[in-house]
Amino acid sequence: MAKYEIQAYTENCTGCLRCQLGCSNLYTKAFNPPVAYIRVNVSGANCSITFTEDCTECGVCADHCFYGALQKELKESMT
Ligand code: SF4
Ligand code: SF4
Repeated sequence: MAKYEIQAYTENCTGCLRCQLGCSNLYTKAFNPPVAYIRVNVSGANCSITFTEDCTECGVCADHCFYGALQKELKESMT
C-alpha cells in the first residue's frame, strides 16, 4: 500500500468531518468519527488537525476532503 505525507491546511477546514468518517469506516467498518486516526477539532474560528499514532498514512482522509484542508503527497509505494 502506498504511503502519503498528509499536509493539513486548517484555514480551509469546515469541520465537516468527512475525513474522520472515511477513516473510521475504512478501519472499523463504522461511521464513527471519534475512533478515526485523524482528529479534527473546531472551536470558533480555530481549528486543529492531528493524527494518532495508528495512522497508516494511507491518504484516504485527504481523498474525502472537498475543501482543500488535507493534501496528500506520495511518500513511498509498496507495490
Ligand atoms: S491517512 Fe489513512 S489512516 Fe491516517 S488518518 Fe487518514 S485515512 Fe486514517
Ligand atoms: S479536514 Fe477536510 S474533510 Fe476533514 S473536517 Fe476539515 S474540511 Fe472536512
